[in-house]
Amino acid sequence: SIPLGYFGGIGAASANGILFKGSNYLDLITKVNTVVLDKTGTLTQGVFKVKEIQSEIPEKEFVNYLASIESQSTHPIAKAIVAYNSVDTLLPVQNVKEVAGHGLKAEINGNEVLAGNGKLLKQFGVIYPTEVDEQVETTVILAVAGKYAGFVTIADEAKPDAKQAITTLHAVGVNKIVMLSGDKTSITQKVAKELGVDEAYGDLLPEDKVTQLEKIKAEPNRVVAFIGDGINDAPVLALSDVGMAMGALGSDVAIETADVVIQNDMPSKIATAIKIGKATKKIVY
Ligand code: ADP
Ligand code: MG
Repeated sequence: SIPLGYFGGIGAASANGILFKGSNYLDLITKVNTVVLDKTGTLTQGVFKVKEIQSEIPEKEFVNYLASIESQSTHPIAKAIVAYNSVDTLLPVQNVKEVAGHGLKAEINGNEVLAGNGKLLKQFGVIYPTEVDEQVETTVILAVAGKYAGFVTIADEAKPDAKQAITTLHAVGVNKIVMLSGDKTSITQKVAKELGVDEAYGDLLPEDKVTQLEKIKAEPNRVVAFIGDGINDAPVLALSDVGMAMGALGSDVAIETADVVIQNDMPSKIATAIKIGKATKKIVY
């Protein structure tokens, strides 16, 4: 039978918008000394805005091509681009292929169109100016018929409680906080530094996130919580000791795979969950 104290703990968590899927996780979370987080949508709002456009073709045409192909994706980056192009009608798009961690490939007006990061363009042998990789914001590059057509920069902001969330995690005894992201390494490390995150890795494909987590888990005495929101995060959620998902804007897969769900998506609730676990333990034993 479950000790009464655990019901109190689960109730207290629930009152804080934290859903524990079992009392065992309330106990396990007290032992967590390592927290690994996804960046986009977890520490940042996951709502991008287009900031700047640099195109080789007329800007209207550039935006129209880009928005047309991105209309085929539900990625937060795609939503920002589609929202930016509110005036023009979209072009018909055929043979769409979404490459995880890279972007999109499709056909528009009989031309092969690519929209994504440098990795995607390199994969299809499209040469683009080095200036694009030097941007300090997330960039989406467009190529039409094998030719570089320009790029947009898009930005996402940290959640209001992100910095406090990291400070509090350190205060409750978490001695290693790591951020993993599919976004550019330069941006990932900039955000990590601003928020006080100990280590950060960018340019990761979903399978690279798994490799990173395996490495961390292999270190002695690590009890690892992972927090993410995306479909791509499901494998790492499953691999961690305590998998936590953002519940409001998170994907169904992430929410289902997680052991703990943070219903209002506030990263500061990770430390709250640990505190509730610790308080419950004092009552139970
Ligand atoms: P995250 O770790 O931030 O969830 P993702 O794996 O979703 O990252 O995406 C990693 C990178 O892949 C993005 O930063 C972007 O460069 C590129 N990308 C993914 N989907 C798209 C898309 N629909 N359009 C353009 N670029 C994309
Ligand atoms: Mg994500």
